[in-house]
Amino acid sequence: MTDFLSTGTLPDEYRQLALTVRDFANQVVAPVAAKHDAEHSFPYEVVAGMADMGLFGLPFPEEFGGMGGDYFALCLALEELGKVDQSVAITLEAGVSLGAMPIYRFGNDKQKAEWLPLLASGRALGAFGLTEPGAGSDAGGTRTTAVLDGDSWIINGSKQFITNSGTDITRLVTVTAVTGGVDGKKEISTIIVPTDTPGFTAEPAYNKVGWNASDTHPLSFDDVRVPAENLLGERGRGYANFLRILDEGRIAIAALSVGAAQGCVDESVRYAHDRQAFGRAIGSNQAIAFKIARMEARAHAARTAYYDAAALMLSGKPFKKEAAIAKLVASEAAMDNARDATQIFGGYGFMNEYAVARHYRDSKILEIGEGTTEVQLMLIGRELGL
Ligand SMILES: Cc1cc2nc3c(=O)[nH]c(=O)nc-3n(C[C@H](O)[C@H](O)[C@H](O)COP(=O)(O)OP(=O)(O)OC[C@H]3O[C@@H](n4cnc5c(N)ncnc54)[C@H](O)[C@@H]3O)c2cc1C
Repeated sequence: MTDFLSTGTLPDEYRQLALTVRDFANQVVAPVAAKHDAEHSFPYEVVAGMADMGLFGLPFPEEFGGMGGDYFALCLALEELGKVDQSVAITLEAGVSLGAMPIYRFGNDKQKAEWLPLLASGRALGAFGLTEPGAGSDAGGTRTTAVLDGDSWIINGSKQFITNSGTDITRLVTVTAVTGGVDGKKEISTIIVPTDTPGFTAEPAYNKVGWNASDTHPLSFDDVRVPAENLLGERGRGYANFLRILDEGRIAIAALSVGAAQGCVDESVRYAHDRQAFGRAIGSNQAIAFKIARMEARAHAARTAYYDAAALMLSGKPFKKEAAIAKLVASEAAMDNARDATQIFGGYGFMNEYAVARHYRDSKILEIGEGTTEVQLMLIGRELGL
């Protein structure tokens, strides 16, 4: 069985963390993954387990209830979880990098003190509301508005496809909204909306192709009144701040994708040994062995891409291009490996209860969420001056 951690290149604390999360993924997540997928149910007990392990606080300082780790530690955890259940992995990814991170990066002392310990504990989830019915890749097309009325913002509009926005433990959604404009150029700001605010509604959950155990809703805002002090970061900097969060988030999605790609390799190696056809293991056919070898190469190459982007980010260097490359190649590796693994499993690969079938359905969104493949290519091209 392939095992990147056994190469011993990771510093010990990272390696230990990854191995701990791997045990949790195999012992706690894997046994209930097919059930939650089939029932489209949110895995509260798994999320509570991740909270107990401190995973929601991984990259935050201890003063905010975090584990004092860093973003690479989060990525390693996402890779291990992504191997066995992408829904669980995206719940952690969105909770940390989209729900809590904007408050850590751009919040004032009061906002951090109020929200971070809660979110880092994993007992509450935050969500990130950027996408709207008419504004996805072109996120600057935001139509949701926030108007100052005395010492309150009044928010009206809608968001769509928002992860973690309607669970029983969701406490806030950070949204982008138009707060003004000059010469036809929109001023976009970011505002924290506690989910118990009157006028805020998480509409019924979507019926998705995959990520069935992940929580995704359209949101509506009908004269939602929140205190003016809920503005997150500088007024008018909302769009730029969200882009920074998305740059980081792409490294996390790449890590999750590498997990999916590697999970498909591991399942395929096992099956290629076990499954007999024409009197021998199917893996003894070079056509199958080559297919799995290529899958391993894709996962390995994508892993080095996200390690590189994370290293640049943590050393304070520019990482936009490398994050886009990592997201591009890792999401494609996951989708390609899921397709190949399903082929190797034959008819069983088309049965929903098999992990490779879940990866086949789940992996498509990796090429769409947090910036589509085309958006990554646009970003890379721009960084090349094109
Ligand atoms: C399960 C799920 C969870 C999500 N979670 C969140 C979340 O938590 N928060 C959030 O804010 N959003 C979330 N999203 C939204 C996601 O980020 C968007 O769906 C994605 O950014 C694409 O936007 P869109 O769907 O509007 O597609 P569009 O932007 O309409 O794109 C449609 C197609 O056109 C292509 N395209 C667009 N512009 C160009 C161009 N200039 N050149 C070439 N091709 C182009 C795109 O690549 C795509 O193939 C989620 C989506 C899903 C499905």
